[in-house]
Amino acid sequence: MLSLSDEQAAAIRAHGEADYPYECCGLLLGAFDADGRKTTREVFPISNAREESAKRNRFLITPQELMRGERYARSQGLDVIGFYHSHPDHPAVPSSYDLDHALPVYSYVIVSVTQGKAGDLLAWEMEADRSRFNPEPLAKG
Ligand SMILES: [Zn+2]
Repeated sequence: MLSLSDEQAAAIRAHGEADYPYECCGLLLGAFDADGRKTTREVFPISNAREESAKRNRFLITPQELMRGERYARSQGLDVIGFYHSHPDHPAVPSSYDLDHALPVYSYVIVSVTQGKAGDLLAWEMEADRSRFNPEPLAKG
């Protein structure tokens, strides 16, 4: 279970629309709660690091950007609890590329952006054996 406020979801949608037709990406900062729930406190936008030509289909956060995000999170007393990115003109469902580049534990939020307009926003978490993603319930934070 991932909690995300309307305001945070709106920020992710706006980022997806701003970066369309490219994928946007960013970090979810917050806390891992004792009951397995994750609470988002802040979304941390990161620019897409890929080459222009490949930007459309792949998102990548560089180690430097991740470190910057983690440093900022720590300064706020938060953890990196997940990642978000957009799927321009594709459903908000993880691709096989996403599966290959994900890690268990974290939440993966995907927003579908169709012709520049954000639509479905879904959360996913990885099966512990990394074989697939499962839908993760979203709660309003
Ligand atoms: Zn993706």
